[in-house]
Amino acid sequence: MTSWPIGVFASIDAGLGVHLDVVRELKVPTIQLHAPHQNSRTPQAAAGFLEKCRAAGITITAVFGGFDGESYADIATTARTVGLVPESTRAARVQDMKEISDFTRLLNCSTVALHIGFVPADHSSASYRDLLQTTRDLLDHVARNGQNLHLETGQESADHLLHFISDVSRSNLFINFDPANMILYGTGEPIAALRKVGHFVRSIHCKDAKWAPAASRGTAWGQEVPLGDGDVGMENYLRTLHEIGYHGPLTIEREIAQDPVRQKADIGHAVRLLESLRSRILGAPPA
Ligand code: MG
Repeated sequence: MTSWPIGVFASIDAGLGVHLDVVRELKVPTIQLHAPHQNSRTPQAAAGFLEKCRAAGITITAVFGGFDGESYADIATTARTVGLVPESTRAARVQDMKEISDFTRLLNCSTVALHIGFVPADHSSASYRDLLQTTRDLLDHVARNGQNLHLETGQESADHLLHFISDVSRSNLFINFDPANMILYGTGEPIAALRKVGHFVRSIHCKDAKWAPAASRGTAWGQEVPLGDGDVGMENYLRTLHEIGYHGPLTIEREIAQDPVRQKADIGHAVRLLESLRSRILGAPPA
């Protein structure tokens, strides 16, 4: 694959991300896929979706897990409901994630990813130690499928995430870096964070956001905005990715499923922005 192929976050059914028709129409060559619900994770569904992708020349580069009961309504709700951290759903969700890994294998894809949740700050707590064990158990399953697991950034600072990855101590745990999430959650300046965690970055999101006002940063959401309109600084972001040696897919994420017309327009604009930055930074692609 050439350097920095454009990608977009997509879904098979009614999940997060855009429908495959939009991907095809915008001629985007790669996707990260939001895992479908359990009922739809069948071999037939995988084969059917793969065939559609093959016909359209689309490569699946990662499959993102998500769970029933998750809500991103506000930061406090997100902390309470998202990922493997909430203890009451931890065991069931790990099982679900293992099945998502199995489905990902049917899609011939070697990367699964997720928001793990707000990793406890107290590294000596029972909850933290159990989360380490749970994550290792998941990683061992994922390894048996020949896969790596990428953690989405945002809910932890760069240092906290590095500490967690080091404590988990498995060789197939990496990072999906989302610069906008660092801003939305107020967990750190994205470019500085990218430099810190760069050696673990194996996939990324191209998403943009504006900081919440300083007084509410970390407790109230920042605002997701179209790519290029926010505080990430897309050229600086791409130049930093180049600097750390990341040349994998540039996967656009635009989470406004409630407004599909605008979502498609914003993604189209993001594709053009990224293509122009890519040729400025890497030079024009060979004819
Ligand atoms: Mg993201």
